[in-house]
Amino acid sequence: MNQPTQPQQPEGDVPDGQQADQSKWPRPQFETLIWRGVRLRCPRCGEGKLFEGFIRMPERCSNCNLRIQREAGFYLGSTYINYGVTAVLMTATFLFLRLFMNIPAKTMIWPLFGFCIIFPVLIFRQARAIWLALDCQFDQSILNEE
Ligand SMILES: [Zn+2]
Repeated sequence: MNQPTQPQQPEGDVPDGQQADQSKWPRPQFETLIWRGVRLRCPRCGEGKLFEGFIRMPERCSNCNLRIQREAGFYLGSTYINYGVTAVLMTATFLFLRLFMNIPAKTMIWPLFGFCIIFPVLIFRQARAIWLALDCQFDQSILNEE
C-alpha cells in the first residue's frame, strides 16, 4: 500500500508566479505560427507588423514587444525557405507545362529564369517572417523573452 509521497499537481496548475509568467505567451499552434508569418505578423501576438515598409524590420513588435531584430545573421536562414519555395514552384511549373501542356523547354527557359529572379524578391518578407515563426516553434523560450 505505497502511496505517492509527493503531492500531485494537476496539469496546468501554477504553484508560483514564476511559472505563471512562462505561460504568459503559450506557443501557438504550428499552423497559426505559419499563417502569422504569411500575413507578416508577429509570431507571438499575431497583431504587430513585422515590416515597416518593404524591407525595414522594427526592433520590437509594436504590440507585444517581442524582439524582432535577432542576432546578426539570424535571417540568413530565411534563404532556405525562399530558395525551397522558389525551386519547388519552378520545378512544378516546368513539369506541368512540359508534360501536360507539351510546351517546349526552350520556350520556357526565359520566363522561368525571370520567375527565379523576381519571385524570391517578392516573397523574401514572408520567408523572413516564417523563419522567425519556425524559430518560435522550435524554441519556445523566445516567446517568453522580455
Ligand atoms: Zn507581437
